Amino acid sequence: MLTPRQRVILRQIVSPPYIYRWAGLLTTIALMTGVTAVVLSDVGARQVLATGPAVTAPAAVNAAGRPVRAGEDAPARGMPGFARPAITSSLLTVTDTGTDRPAVALTFDDGPTPEYTPEVLDILAEYGAKATFCMIGDQALAHPELVQRVINEGHRLCDHTMTHDATVGSNAQDLMSQQLQRSRTSLSEVVAPPATIDYFRAPEGRWTPLLDEVAAQTGMRPLGWSVDTLDWTQPGTGAIVGSVQQGVHPGAVVLFHDGGGPREQTVEAVRELLPWLQEQGYQFVMPS
Ligand SMILES: [Zn+2]
Repeated sequence: MLTPRQRVILRQIVSPPYIYRWAGLLTTIALMTGVTAVVLSDVGARQVLATGPAVTAPAAVNAAGRPVRAGEDAPARGMPGFARPAITSSLLTVTDTGTDRPAVALTFDDGPTPEYTPEVLDILAEYGAKATFCMIGDQALAHPELVQRVINEGHRLCDHTMTHDATVGSNAQDLMSQQLQRSRTSLSEVVAPPATIDYFRAPEGRWTPLLDEVAAQTGMRPLGWSVDTLDWTQPGTGAIVGSVQQGVHPGAVVLFHDGGGPREQTVEAVRELLPWLQEQGYQFVMPS
């Protein structure tokens, strides 16, 4: 038999005082609400992962942000295979040349500079190689003749902001858009006729999803990289050469600098790397 004390405890378990019944009911409701919220947010996240963010550039603009006219997307004169694909907000880190042969895209940031850009151009010309130059707007305005030479020799331009503003990605969309339009226009109109600006590269690679999207909306393909030479740290010519020899792969986008500090090591590394890359069968192409 139960003692009186045990009987009281048993009665409280079977039929608890009303305060505990309310507490139990509220706890149950809170737990169910929490579980429902977790399930719904997980479903939402899966949908985003499955479909990707719904950001694509307007289809009716070309790489310069002008309305597309018939024939504008034809490959640039004398540069077979350099057709311009549609611009979308998808960071380019590899090339897609559609050829069987291995291809590599060489990119040079932070110029143009009278100290290094002409030397880089000389070496590229020697090997018939084309590259992409991610220029700082103020540098381009200071050295328009170098921008003109880059264009004349069949290379492509990439906007790297007016002042190498690494915080551009944290600005509000309107300001970000104004900044990119200004730098793109400056770069384009410093040469005659105005150049097409194919790409935008975030200073220091500080991309945000919004910056990626705004670059595409401004008519520029967001350009990343897949091989970082770290040449700006001046690790020695051998280290720069080694980073490319070890990291290069078909479709690689390689990051060099022809401005922003002493770049003798970069120039020497490029001088060694171009023949080596050619020996490996690499073609020099634009990111696409
Ligand atoms: Zn830079």
